[in-house]
Amino acid sequence: MAIDKIVIVGGGTAGWMAAAALSRLRAGRDVAITLVESEMIGTVGVGEATIPPFLDFNKLLEVDEREMLSAVQGSFKLGIQFVNWGKIGDSYIHPFGNYGYQMGGMSFHHTWHKFKATGDKRPIQVFNLETMAAYFGRFARTEDYAREDLPPVNYAYHLDAGRYARFLRGYAEKRGVVRLEGKVNDVAIDGESGFVTSITLEDGTQIAGDLFIDCSGFRGLLIEQALKTGYEDWTNYLPCDRAVALPCEREDGSGPLPYTRATAHKAGWQWQVPLQHRNGNGHVYCSQFMSDDEALDILVNNIAGKPGADPNFLRFTTGRRKKFWNKNVVALGLSAGFMEPLESTSIHLINTGINKLIALLSLDGITQTQEDAFNRLTGKEYARIRDFLILHYNTTARNDSAFWNYCRTMAVPESLTEKTDLFRLNGQIFREDDELFTETSWAAVMMGQGIMMNGHNPMADCLNQPSTRQELDAIEQSIRYVVQHMPSHGDYLKKYCPAP
Ligand code: FAD
Repeated sequence: MAIDKIVIVGGGTAGWMAAAALSRLRAGRDVAITLVESEMIGTVGVGEATIPPFLDFNKLLEVDEREMLSAVQGSFKLGIQFVNWGKIGDSYIHPFGNYGYQMGGMSFHHTWHKFKATGDKRPIQVFNLETMAAYFGRFARTEDYAREDLPPVNYAYHLDAGRYARFLRGYAEKRGVVRLEGKVNDVAIDGESGFVTSITLEDGTQIAGDLFIDCSGFRGLLIEQALKTGYEDWTNYLPCDRAVALPCEREDGSGPLPYTRATAHKAGWQWQVPLQHRNGNGHVYCSQFMSDDEALDILVNNIAGKPGADPNFLRFTTGRRKKFWNKNVVALGLSAGFMEPLESTSIHLINTGINKLIALLSLDGITQTQEDAFNRLTGKEYARIRDFLILHYNTTARNDSAFWNYCRTMAVPESLTEKTDLFRLNGQIFREDDELFTETSWAAVMMGQGIMMNGHNPMADCLNQPSTRQELDAIEQSIRYVVQHMPSHGDYLKKYCPAP
């Protein structure tokens, strides 16, 4: 059956990202795209931090970065600072760029370890541009400092999720996406094929479709409520199941930090996402170990500034849909699954879901092969991200609460145990299944959590010591020089993408 009508259910970040991306497909093709959303139900209203591959989504849409950042009051993000995770008082940054660069075909941390073993006292962080700029609250893009001896600066954005959905809505509607307001009350399924044929709104409007994209949030209106796809629950690995969000104004006149902060508390952790006009704040926690009241108290006592809204309490179950693509329904966003926002991976998964859908889509019809490929690839992506998130909880030394005692001693996937064992042995990190996180990401979090390398790749011992030391010195000095000459992040934003 040819695909003439695509119906998107839901107008949160997932729905409008899908609508905007698919609206580009309409050029030269006779395909109708309809998006249905309900203002009464609303969106989840959080989801403000992204990671670097998100920049490619702008490229796909051919959106101007300045225009987008102005419209959403966004800021730049160089990484994530983790506070109190390994133990209380610890802090480290998971940066977006690499430590140094490959020497002798090996990741930089091997070379760094080799020199550390021979008395070099410099922490690995001084060899990373994003970490150093973040610590000094500075920002510039590669184009601004134009030095050939340094890799490009890797960054992502902090966005106001509501403004971002509105921005994308304008984009998609301009390109022919039709938006319908209304609550979906009924879903019709063909008895023979099991395909969804239409949805019906509360006012009786019926919308027929060939391909349905379920962006209805946690409720999974089509993928779960209609098709009963099933859910794989990962609460045993990632036990947090609640969040309370409370944005606040920055009253002290300080500019936005160029990084997200994740501060661990007694039974969860708190996020701080700095936008141009406010800080997004929230506390993710585990209801088995903490009440809603206590979670809100902790959050209120740990934010600087006046709350700009009422607290927004959210419930979730970490895990994933058993199939992301089922029959003629593709789930994107929260309807596909949820892993807590510790590494800002949800919008990323929407982005990669859209990329895969576009790559696999044929307007001639839907085949089992497309469905299987989408599900296999997405499943692997989810599993690799899940392991990376578990790493933060399980490799803690904290023993100050029942929650941390659980996380420290819980059983973890074998794939993760192998990763940490090999890193301890000699710093080896094998990336698998085209996984998202780089060797620097794994090394930064493992070392930040307190896992130390007991050795390094033996090839590091074969590097020419004097010339390698000179290279290390040059990297460190170039980074210091560039960071010293970068403007503050706040000044950069005022000049580059001020509020309209
Ligand atoms: P929603 O925003 O819930 O949208 C669902 C849409 O479906 C709405 O438009 C709603 O009206 C519509 N709908 C539902 N039912 C019906 C119906 N019956 N009829 C009509 N319409 C209907 N992600 C990140 O990448 N970075 C972060 O920092 C981050 N932080 C987060 C913090 C928390 C606490 C949580 C819970 C999530 C966070 N996320 C983050 C995830 C992010 O919020 C979501 O991935 C993103 O907002 C996409 O949500 P969504 O569009 O799938 O769902």
